[in-house]
Amino acid sequence: MADTTTRRRVCILGATGSVGRSTLEVIALHPSRFEVFALTAHQRIDELADLCRQWRPRFAAVSGAAQADELRRRMAADDVRTEILSGKRALEELAAHPDVDSVMAAIVGAAGLAPCLAAARAGKRLLLANKEALVVGGALFMRAVEQGGATLLPIDSEHSAVFQCLPADRAAWHRRVDHILLTSSGGPFRSRDPESLHDVTPDMACAHPNFAMGRKISVDSATMMNKALEVIEARWLFDLQPEQVRVLIHPQQIIHSMIVCRDNSVLAQLGTPDMKVPIAYGLSWPERIESGAARLDFATLGGLHFENPDPRRFPGLDLAFDALRAAPGATNALNAVNEVAVGAFLAGTISFTAIHHVNAQTLDSLAARFGPQNNLDDLLDLDARAREAAQRLVRALAR
Ligand code: NAD
Ligand code: MG
Repeated sequence: MADTTTRRRVCILGATGSVGRSTLEVIALHPSRFEVFALTAHQRIDELADLCRQWRPRFAAVSGAAQADELRRRMAADDVRTEILSGKRALEELAAHPDVDSVMAAIVGAAGLAPCLAAARAGKRLLLANKEALVVGGALFMRAVEQGGATLLPIDSEHSAVFQCLPADRAAWHRRVDHILLTSSGGPFRSRDPESLHDVTPDMACAHPNFAMGRKISVDSATMMNKALEVIEARWLFDLQPEQVRVLIHPQQIIHSMIVCRDNSVLAQLGTPDMKVPIAYGLSWPERIESGAARLDFATLGGLHFENPDPRRFPGLDLAFDALRAAPGATNALNAVNEVAVGAFLAGTISFTAIHHVNAQTLDSLAARFGPQNNLDDLLDLDARAREAAQRLVRALAR
C-alpha cells in the first residue's frame, strides 16, 4: 500500500455533477493515493451535505451565502469539521490553495473559467472536464497554464483519447500529427429526419444513447454543439489549426478519438464508454490505475460504424470552425449564446431547432464586437454582452 502521507490532495469543483461523482467513484478505489481536500457545488446542498459526511473534506463551497449557512448548521449537527465557504472567490481560493495538488474542473459552463485560471496560475495539476472554460479562455487560458507551470490534463473523453495517442514529448506533436479525428455518438437524433426535430422535448434531447450526463452537455450532444465546443477545445489543447480537427460520427463510442499521422498511420484509443477511464488517467498520469470501468469484450462488440456528420441535421458544428477563423472573442461569444439558448430550451421557452437559430443569429449580430481578449474582465464583458443579445432573441422567439 502507498504511504498515506504522500496522498495527492484533490479539489473537485462541481462535485455534485456527473463528472464530479464519477471522480469520487474512482478516488474511492484508491484511498491510499488520493485525499478529498475540497468539494464544491452550486445549489444542491442536500447532495453536497451527503458528500461531506461521506468524505469529510477540509473545505466545501457553495455559491450562495444563505446556503453556506444552512450547510454549516447541518455539518455542525453531524460533527463534520469541514469548513464551509461561499461565493465565486471561494472557488478560486480553493483551486489555488497551497495544500491542493490536483484540481478536477467539473463545473459546467463559463462559470468554471475563473477557478480554472486560478488553478492554472497556481501551477496545479489541472484535470479539465469543463471544456467551456477553454472555449471561452482560449489563448489567455493556455498562457496561464504555461506561465503558472500547471499540468493540463484533458478529461473530455475525446481529448483524453488524443492525449493518450500522442507521444510524451510535446515538441514531437506537430511533426507527427497530420490531423485528429474527434468521434461523436451523433446523439439521440442521429438518424431522425431534421424536419421532425422541431417538437422534441428536453427529456427526449437528454436521453443520450451511451452516457448519463448533465442536462446542458446532453442537449449539446443532441445538437452536436458539444462536438463544436470540443473542436475549439482541441484546437487549444493540442495547438492545431482548425483544418487539423475533423469530426466523425461513431455511434458505438468504442473508439474515443484518433490521430492520423503524417504517414497515414492511425492511432486510436478504445474502451467502453465510461468517463471513469479518462478521469482515472487524469488522476494517475503518467501512471495507470484501476478505473472501475468495464473492460471491452471485442468478441461481443459486433460492428463499428462510422459516418460523416450531416450539416443539415447538425448545423451547429460549422459554427465552431467559423468562430475559430473569426477574430478572437468569437468562440467566447459562441459559448455564451449557446448557454443561453440551451437554458431557454431546457426551460421550455424555445424549441429545440431554435437553439441553432439563436446561436447563429446572435453571433452574426455580435461580429463587430470581436477583438483581442487580454484579460479575464475582457472575456467576461464579451460573455455578458453576448448573453444579453441572445436573451433578446430568446424573448422574441418565446413560445
Ligand atoms: P452537471 O450538470 O452534472 O454538473 C455540473 C456541476 O457544476 C455541479 O456540481 C454543479 O453544482 C456545478 N455548477 C453548475 N453551475 C455552477 C455555477 N454557476 N457555479 C459553480 N458551480 C456550478 O455537469 P457534467 O455533465 O458533470 O459536466 C461538467 C463539465 O464536464 C461540463 O463542462 C461538461 O461539458 C464536461 N464533460 C462532461 C461529461 C459527462 O459525461 N458528463 C463528459 C465530458 C465532459
Ligand atoms: Mg466529450
